[in-house]
Amino acid sequence: MSTACFYLPPENWGAEPVLQGQEARHLGQVLRLRAGEEVTLLDGCGRKGRCSILEVRKQGVRLRLLTEEREHPCPAPAIVALAFSKAVRRGFFMEKAVELGAHAIWLWQGDHSQGKLSSQLAETCRGQMVAGAKQSGNPWLPDVQCLTGGVEELVERAAPVEHRILPWEMQEGIPMLTPQQAGRPGLSLYVIGPEGGFSQRELAALRQAAFIPVSLGARILRCETAATLCLGIHWWAAQQPGRITAGDRPA
Ligand code: SAM
Repeated sequence: MSTACFYLPPENWGAEPVLQGQEARHLGQVLRLRAGEEVTLLDGCGRKGRCSILEVRKQGVRLRLLTEEREHPCPAPAIVALAFSKAVRRGFFMEKAVELGAHAIWLWQGDHSQGKLSSQLAETCRGQMVAGAKQSGNPWLPDVQCLTGGVEELVERAAPVEHRILPWEMQEGIPMLTPQQAGRPGLSLYVIGPEGGFSQRELAALRQAAFIPVSLGARILRCETAATLCLGIHWWAAQQPGRITAGDRPA
């Protein structure tokens, strides 16, 4: 039985869904799966379907939906606000963000960002996010937003966030991020600065908005490393036995 996962957007689901393009090539030509074998479909919105392969053709792969289930959203959702930087390996980060269960990614325009964030950038990351979902079997794709309005927009969007965390490379007097701070039930937001770091103005605005500065250790990490580490710690902490109780889960 194949454990392979494939992505099919919600609007294409049905009793006999058809995989086309990249997903069909992956199934037929890369993995060489054949009629009669079973695969898993993910819709990026929490749905997983078990399917049997009916027919593998160049034009597309016909499937039959056998069972489907919905995975509840995580009761400890994490958002990473990653400052825009031209040099960042964004594709790498986007893939890892899905594997590590990020709820949303906000790309934001920092004062020291190299280059200008375009609101179209969100769409360009889709392929890498789908790769992360297929790798890990995560049926949820994070919502990606481009915050072109700088720290002001970031602070405004953070209004409903319960846990506001500001990883800051300044070593003196900044406490380490602890496992207790990460992975808490309720919405958490980690704000990562650009390669050039936060400006004084941004730091003042974030502190004013009750973001708690934390250190990730005694080295200066690249933005995408810091962002991936925050998601990794959050994911790990949320999975500790007893961390999420039945009352934290949706009914
Ligand atoms: N401008 C800084 C410099 O050159 O000294 C470096 C900025 S760092 C490349 C990019 C972002 O990653 C920082 O703004 C911070 O959010 C995060 N970061 C990197 N290393 C960190 C650390 N050791 N602790 C906490 N945050 C860190």
